[in-house]
Amino acid sequence: MMIEITSLSPSQRGICPEELYFGETFSDHMFIQHFTLEHSWHNAVICPYQSLPLEPFAAFLHSNQKILEGLKAYRNVNGDINLFRPEDNVKRFNRSAKRMLMPEIDESLHLEAIKSLVYLDQDWVPDKQGAFLLIRQIMIAASTKLYHGSSRDYSHYIITRPAGSYFKGELIPISVFVADEYRRAVKDGNGEFKTGGSHMPSILNSEEVIQLGYSQVLLLDPVEGRYIENVGEINIYFVYEGKHVVTPVQNGNILPCIIHDSILKLAPALGYEISEQCLDIDDVLAGIDSGKITEAFGSGTAADILPVGKFEFKGKEYVINNNKTGDVARELYNELTGIQYGTREDKFGWVVPL
Ligand SMILES: *Cc1c(COP(=O)(O)O)cnc(C)c1O
Repeated sequence: MMIEITSLSPSQRGICPEELYFGETFSDHMFIQHFTLEHSWHNAVICPYQSLPLEPFAAFLHSNQKILEGLKAYRNVNGDINLFRPEDNVKRFNRSAKRMLMPEIDESLHLEAIKSLVYLDQDWVPDKQGAFLLIRQIMIAASTKLYHGSSRDYSHYIITRPAGSYFKGELIPISVFVADEYRRAVKDGNGEFKTGGSHMPSILNSEEVIQLGYSQVLLLDPVEGRYIENVGEINIYFVYEGKHVVTPVQNGNILPCIIHDSILKLAPALGYEISEQCLDIDDVLAGIDSGKITEAFGSGTAADILPVGKFEFKGKEYVINNNKTGDVARELYNELTGIQYGTREDKFGWVVPL
């Protein structure tokens, strides 16, 4: 791909803040390219970060033809910048594009665009274990004229922002509210694709739930309202008797996640049994009450592993492991971040240098 680069001069560039909070600031540059039926993907540029011209008739404002992705760049213990499983990320972007009837992007060109952008903004990659540069890719349907109801023009953007660790050195369990009234996906819908519509759960983190002290919302299956699916943008795991890890089975509503796939491979390597099962919320809560479930945790790109200390369902609280981080979550966290930051062997070949 010919990427035309217009960069800010060193004196015009911002400085990555020392103290990083999630979602507060962004880096200096962005990647843009456009698609038309006539020219396919063209005009690939990296330019200073800027607002977009917004046509109120642009198709993505009127439909769910928008997809996204997220991965992170981070510095390993030698100071080198790495990406974690970026090939899987650009593949999943195309998988979502296909489902939403949007044009695919050549995977090696997409990867080259990511690497060029991060290389240019490398001073924005924090130099602190646990902190990272979040890379966000989006594609939107851009046509203002519709052709048989569908867009013919698309735009692809890559933007980045630095973010601190969810944890300051110590893994702190989160609290999860189980939504009784809302569903995230419909049967045979878009639940297993990374589209705008699959991100409703964050909206469910209503003021009310936050006031009650819960930071994430767990959603149940759309048909019977009893099987556990996703918690916001993370996957969920329960540990039975300290050794058997169980996670919801892919039922067509759950996004195939990259950290989830990594956990499925790492857990057996650490001596744990792991299986994907249909998890009934009542059975799981009974398992917490009886002590059979000894731990719960989540996974996702931003935090890697998030221990869960308690759930709330229909006004009742269910505390796990005395609201403390368990051994399985800690071991998986140490192994996964050890691979990412270069202190443990990368047996699966997941780490890609910039
Ligand atoms: C992005 C996302 C995740 C996390 O996926 P990873 O590839 O593990 O980062 C989980 N659930 C939903 C709904 C998501 O959009």
